[in-house]
Amino acid sequence: MRLDVVTIFPEYLEPLNVSLVGKARARGQLDVRIHDLRDWTHDKHNTVDDTPYGGGPGMVMKPEPWGEALDAVVESGEGLPTIVVPTPSGRPFTQELAVELSEKPWLVFTPARYEGIDRRVIEEYAERCDVREVSIGDYVLAGGEAPVLVMVEAIARLLPGVLGNAESHRDDSFAPGAMADLLEGPVYTKPPEWRGRGIPDVLLSGHHGKIARWRRDEAFRRTTGNRPDLIERADPAAFDKKDREM
Ligand code: SAM
Repeated sequence: MRLDVVTIFPEYLEPLNVSLVGKARARGQLDVRIHDLRDWTHDKHNTVDDTPYGGGPGMVMKPEPWGEALDAVVESGEGLPTIVVPTPSGRPFTQELAVELSEKPWLVFTPARYEGIDRRVIEEYAERCDVREVSIGDYVLAGGEAPVLVMVEAIARLLPGVLGNAESHRDDSFAPGAMADLLEGPVYTKPPEWRGRGIPDVLLSGHHGKIARWRRDEAFRRTTGNRPDLIERADPAAFDKKDREM
């Protein structure tokens, strides 16, 4: 998969060199290209923002550098990318969207600063490419670089061969499948006793059916406690008789 990021803070994307994403890059599974938006400015101050039409506080990112940058990036590859525009006014970034984006061959991220990018850039590119305006949550950050790090990590771990164990994300919270509507329950590792605290006996029983049932009950309990909205939204058919008794 190819990933391009256009930003005024290329150094903010340095975490893409470490851990899972860094290893995927080193193995050639991810081709990440970071671009400095200011390379497409032509004045001596490398200006990327201006005052908003209609007045109001804050500055707006100018269309010319974004247009030139996106033209250059889009023309540098085969076919057309999916452009991901981080914005608090976008569609929520969910595991489902991460799965969908992980199946695309080429993503271009456009993290903004100030009050965001002049609307005409989004409109112009929406006529040429698949453009997704995406929010990582109901809060406002100072810029879109942290949302890009969040999205890239969620997407990269879904790519074939990126996680050591391909099964690892199967039981994650929000993963499509048997427990799609439930959060993952608690997990334990060795030693069997730590500061006087043991682990649930069932996990030592070796009884796969009972362990699966316990995991489901714990997932249900955690979801009811932390995210009752997920239970309310779920298809009732997703729950069995034992769930409903809890
Ligand atoms: N005035 C904008 C609004 O209220 O929608 C907020 C602009 S914010 C200060 C600057 C940039 O940070 C945004 O254009 C976007 O790139 C990024 N950003 C901030 N919060 C975000 C969020 N929750 N999800 C995705 N991107 C976000």
